[in-house]
Amino acid sequence: MKLRPHHVLDIISDYGHDAKFVPHPYGHAVHTVARAILSNPNLEVELVIGADEICRPCTHLRLDGLCDDVLRQLDPPISKQQYNDDLDGRLVNYLGLTLPAVMTIRKYLEIVAEHLPGVEKICTHPGEDQETRLTGLQHGLVRLGITEDEEKIGLG
Ligand code: SF4
Repeated sequence: MKLRPHHVLDIISDYGHDAKFVPHPYGHAVHTVARAILSNPNLEVELVIGADEICRPCTHLRLDGLCDDVLRQLDPPISKQQYNDDLDGRLVNYLGLTLPAVMTIRKYLEIVAEHLPGVEKICTHPGEDQETRLTGLQHGLVRLGITEDEEKIGLG
């Protein structure tokens, strides 16, 4: 399946904070993709900058493959398509990845773990606390068995 790099990190951070993955009013597939990757970190995925498996059933995905949602909480408001593309561009640069790339979720998250702490500065969303994002990622990676070296990712 195709996945945006930051969508995976959103799921891992939520997992680290014990969030429940339930259907969203937008109709997107965060809840089903979360179950798929958390139950099988060896799942091979294609990391992409663009609409992904989460977007596929979303009411905001247009026929041309672009997102029509707008982040009105930002001043000035910007399209979520642009926000997401910019965010994923910065994220893959920070992680040293070239997209599209096919790898297991485990491999991707091992690369993320090598950039913790630090990556939370790139992937924290507006209105979200950077420390909260960091602890979510740290605990999510440990819970998923991606790393046992808690000190190396800034825990403990
Ligand atoms: S990026 Fe847009 S299309 Fe994709 S899940 Fe979010 S709101 Fe829906």
